[in-house]
Amino acid sequence: MLLELNDLFDVKTIRQDFPLLHQEVYGKPLIWLDNSSTTQKPQSVIDTLTQFYKQYNSNVHRAVHTLGIQATDAYEAAREKVQHFIGANSASEIIFVRGTTEGINLVAQTYGRKYIREGDEIILSTLEHHSNIVPWQMLAQETGAILKVIPVSDRGEILLEEYAQLLSSRTRIVALVHVSNGLGTILPIQEMTEMAHQYGARVVIDGAQGVPHLSVDVQSLDCDFYAFSGHKMFGPSGIGVLYGKQEILEDIPPWQGGGSMIRSVTFEKTTYEVPPAKFEAGTPSIADAIALGAAIDYLTNLGMNNIAQYEHKLTDYAMAQLAQIPGLRLIGTAKQKVGVLSFIFEDISPVEVGQLLALEGIAVRAGHHCAQPTMQRFGVTGTVRPSLAFYNTYEEIDSLVEVLRQIKLSN
Ligand code: PLP
Repeated sequence: MLLELNDLFDVKTIRQDFPLLHQEVYGKPLIWLDNSSTTQKPQSVIDTLTQFYKQYNSNVHRAVHTLGIQATDAYEAAREKVQHFIGANSASEIIFVRGTTEGINLVAQTYGRKYIREGDEIILSTLEHHSNIVPWQMLAQETGAILKVIPVSDRGEILLEEYAQLLSSRTRIVALVHVSNGLGTILPIQEMTEMAHQYGARVVIDGAQGVPHLSVDVQSLDCDFYAFSGHKMFGPSGIGVLYGKQEILEDIPPWQGGGSMIRSVTFEKTTYEVPPAKFEAGTPSIADAIALGAAIDYLTNLGMNNIAQYEHKLTDYAMAQLAQIPGLRLIGTAKQKVGVLSFIFEDISPVEVGQLLALEGIAVRAGHHCAQPTMQRFGVTGTVRPSLAFYNTYEEIDSLVEVLRQIKLSN
């Protein structure tokens, strides 16, 4: 069974594409299980970055010379790759930003400032990353809006009935994580969006952990905004995407002002470009956007459904193995989840476990994962969090489990 899956997906060959994975740490082979934090890059992404700076580095959109045209074409081609990858209707719905955090702040500062008033309600879930809490809290403080929070079950699943109770004609925004970075829970976004839309609310999705693991189609999700980060999907850091429905992007004001986002400027008045340029003030992260396009090519070539299928089996295997370690408490056991394997030992702190794993070459995150309310819900200040990607193997899970057993025995 395991062999069959490995053969199908051929992880050994795939791993050859990732140079960083082939090194030793403290004399042990590196086992990279910190993928929710950031992912490693395939050679094609690294080559794309190098090629840009070696062969056609130029600013975009304003040049009439050859390299400028080449850079602009590649930058806009990357936008189209993103469009197709997430099933957007048009490339003009794709805004390049620095990452998920910037994408959500953009929505809060544009849509939010235009439409949110005192007494309006913004609904979030208990599972949000700080980047999908703090921008809304800041907006609420500015406007007098109220934040409401959807509770979760002991498995870390959204309580849909409670969500239904929170929705009302006062709800203006529902901001939800697609996949929880603390627990791995996949939220029923399509259903939750439909429920929000019945009250005329706009739906903002934090897709930072969705896009790397699931096949995402923003049109079938029908969300109004969807934000994600390049570095969590095997692309570079410093680049991310905010998708927004065309008519909303046309309606809302720009965020940052500067070059590239204008049509005309006088000291009296500025007129703005249409989306996406309206939201891309200044020189963008050109090379990073193009290399994000290379990451998308890589993922498309592997097939998001194949990735999801392989990771699903690997996650089931890992959860089952971890559950057998005496004294280990798994946190986040949703039926629909990705390979985020949060746990604690009651008598050893997460940071200590993380450090002991690091000495064995195993990289995991230990702490609150920028999701303190999630941790509070489960009565902990943090967890140990191994997190999987498609280049992880069954053998790596076995090594993790073996080291954890030793840690437990000697503490
Ligand atoms: N949302 C989730 C669910 C995340 O996991 C992260 C990063 O860990 C973020 C948002 C923030 O992403 P970035 O720091 O790339 O903006």
